[in-house]
Amino acid sequence: MSRLFGKVLGHHRVGRMIGAGGMGEVYEAEDLQLGRQVALKVLPAAIAADEERLIRFTREARILGSLNHPSIVTIFSVDQHEGEHFITMELVEGRTLAACTPPQGLPVARLLDVAQPLADALAAAHERGTVLIDPGGPPSGRVGLRKVLPRLGAPPRLNLMVITHGHFDHVGAASGLRDATGAPIAIHQADAAWLRAGQVVWPKGVTPWGRFARTVFGPVVMPLYRLSKLDPDLLIGDEGMDLEAYGISGRVVHTPGHSPGSVSVVLPSGEAFVGDLAMNGLPFCLRPRFGIFAHQPDRVADSWRKLLDLGAREIYPAHGRPFPTSALVS
Ligand SMILES: [Zn+2]
Ligand SMILES: [Zn+2]
Repeated sequence: MSRLFGKVLGHHRVGRMIGAGGMGEVYEAEDLQLGRQVALKVLPAAIAADEERLIRFTREARILGSLNHPSIVTIFSVDQHEGEHFITMELVEGRTLAACTPPQGLPVARLLDVAQPLADALAAAHERGTVLIDPGGPPSGRVGLRKVLPRLGAPPRLNLMVITHGHFDHVGAASGLRDATGAPIAIHQADAAWLRAGQVVWPKGVTPWGRFARTVFGPVVMPLYRLSKLDPDLLIGDEGMDLEAYGISGRVVHTPGHSPGSVSVVLPSGEAFVGDLAMNGLPFCLRPRFGIFAHQPDRVADSWRKLLDLGAREIYPAHGRPFPTSALVS
């Protein structure tokens, strides 16, 4: 008997387990409010305890939930109850593809029957397009290109590149990716001049470690970077920019402080990609905090408040791991 059989999670009574894998156990369940059968995917405790994997689990559910296609299971909600994190979704009767496949494989005609809807579903998932935030990379950007290009499909599809700010470590692969995909480059107008001049900029430190790192490593590291001059295609103003036209529900918002033209991308789901406004990892810091370098440190708190007012809950810093807004110590 499975550990959750007969338990009530939220308003769902858990039934028999119908599958299990690395990312969770799947149960039949009854939605007690609507009186219908659903499927519950319950996250294993070990994953739920890992903040980063929990965030990834929630994000995947949201992405799936945003897709509407006959061959993609419908997601009803992402929920938690007494420490159990779970996704409720449409209960699909039938057997898995693995269970239907004989040892010698599927006959070609049957394979085509199965593959066509799968390919359609994948196409539906990809059609929404991709927006890349910070095509960073080392001086030439070649490593950045190698990492990003294979993930954009063939031919590579990229709708837009948003550069959170004009520092050298955030723009390396931008021009190579523009050549390969034709995707326009967007940056706030206040940081655009650095790009146009190919200027390597590193602001002053605002913590003891930041001041030390800037003074000692700055003069060694900065000459290693040679940026080619880059003309951005779109200039973002202080009012920000809507991403709907690029296939993403979300907004670019002006969050100055780390640099005058720093921007963040905020999604309706509460995920915020903040560039260097905040950091969470070595060599910069051990815990989530505001960036240790800034051109305008006095503007950082206002920008953070702006993000919270816009509903930001999960922060994706450019350097380090994602973290919930509640974890930031300033
Ligand atoms: Zn920076
Ligand atoms: Zn940076």
